[in-house]
Amino acid sequence: MVVPPLGQEVKVVSHLAAKSDFGTGAAMICSYGDTMDIQLFRELNLDPVAAIDEEGRMTEAAGRYEGLTVIAARAAISKDLHADGLVEKVVTIQHRTPICQRSGDPVEFILTEDWYMRQLDVLPKLKSLVDEMEFHPKRHKQLLVDWMDSITIDWPVGRRRYYHTEIPLWYCSSCGEVLVPEPGKYYRPWKDPAPFESCAKCGGTEFRGEEGVFDTWMDSSNSNLVACQYMKDMGFFRDHFPTSIRPQGRDIVRNWLYYTVLKSYSLLGEKPFEQVWISGMGLDATGRAMHDSLGNVIDPLPILAREGADAFRFWAASETNVGEEFRISEDRISGARRFLTKLWNVARFISSFPEAEAPELKPTERWILAELNKLLRTSASGYEDFNFFVPANRTRDYLWNLFAPHYIEMVKHRAYEEDASCLYTLHTVLRTLLRLLAPIIPFITDAIWRDIYGNTVHTESLPQPADEWESKLGKLTPALVEFNSAVWKEKKRRGLTLKEEISGIALPKNLMPFSDDLSAMHNIRW
Ligand SMILES: [Zn+2]
Repeated sequence: MVVPPLGQEVKVVSHLAAKSDFGTGAAMICSYGDTMDIQLFRELNLDPVAAIDEEGRMTEAAGRYEGLTVIAARAAISKDLHADGLVEKVVTIQHRTPICQRSGDPVEFILTEDWYMRQLDVLPKLKSLVDEMEFHPKRHKQLLVDWMDSITIDWPVGRRRYYHTEIPLWYCSSCGEVLVPEPGKYYRPWKDPAPFESCAKCGGTEFRGEEGVFDTWMDSSNSNLVACQYMKDMGFFRDHFPTSIRPQGRDIVRNWLYYTVLKSYSLLGEKPFEQVWISGMGLDATGRAMHDSLGNVIDPLPILAREGADAFRFWAASETNVGEEFRISEDRISGARRFLTKLWNVARFISSFPEAEAPELKPTERWILAELNKLLRTSASGYEDFNFFVPANRTRDYLWNLFAPHYIEMVKHRAYEEDASCLYTLHTVLRTLLRLLAPIIPFITDAIWRDIYGNTVHTESLPQPADEWESKLGKLTPALVEFNSAVWKEKKRRGLTLKEEISGIALPKNLMPFSDDLSAMHNIRW
């Protein structure tokens, strides 16, 4: 069959892609109008014709349209078809065409030779390496597995654009041999003189530098190697590779995480990390992902400047379980800062009293230390799973809802009397909370620690539960909280200030051990 307007002959074959009720009933394919064309060219093993060059102009293959831009050529062809009387009718149709995300211009597919990195033949091995890595949360491992299962071609690593890492290769001008320079130096082959005397294959002395650059992830997949000083300090590298943890967002599992696994395996035959920590996405207040085009991107820098890095960190830790999406609310970030203020104020209060040796502990101390043990146990399980949501929220709850309003208020009178049981406990709890929170809010905890205890909190170990703090009194927390709340409510009902004496209050029997402290706290006349 002869195709207008250039009159070249093409073969007609039967194919499922042709729809008899659409247009002429024949499916026209060219190299390349769309991704379907690419698929059919591969499937039918056809020789593509490069009719458009990299500048977007028609090539020699376009005959008399050579040199025209794609748009101008389209108009010229339409005009010629009309002039030759080949146009039966013109109708407006709607069809799919890929467009550039930024400019909105239609995308043209241009055939070029390029560099690929092998991945298909090592996929089974990569999957077994992935099984050797521990994921937090466990379920997000599936994101990586699904991506690996979807890979059908090797990784195209070459890109045609400016300002990226150059592909460090030269080609022999005589025989075309690919020449690889010595490692250890950054090469710009399009600009630098070739670092070879002669071609190893043919002895030629003329070389052409590669002009292409690498895909972004070709560089990013080296980040763990850079951190371990690969090829810089190999002693350090051997001590630290594989690295202990890769923290990253779930949106770049298929590129940053996957290509790092591929790169580390291809270079070293090993997994890149022991652990992988995958966070969810921060969404806008209405639950949408943030995009420049939606105009809903929240700039963290002004928030950091206003609320401080620790408030931001505490908010991020306490907002959601690891791996889950979260909505970004500036109010909640401010709320995190209010907790830091609370911590600061509690620490300032405690710092006004001297530390004391561990004496015989009184019931109120035994109760709050038993609660501290509970906090330490739950927090440890959160930290072990790299889920900072657990220690952040449990510690806030302990400090804000138990230690400050109940314990401190109950023992204030003894603190001023420098009662050893009380002073020991105030400082023990503060030291423990600072050590517990240091991984999440490193700045404020260290500032408080240095101020009160000297040195740095960051050389301290994570606090562990202590057997001697175990006590049955820990079970009385709900009763105690309920009693205090009832007294506060009753004082309010009677129009009394918190300090004013109150009578007619009955102490539940199980709270008898706290009788003295409760009576001092509320000024109760039994
Ligand atoms: Zn050569």
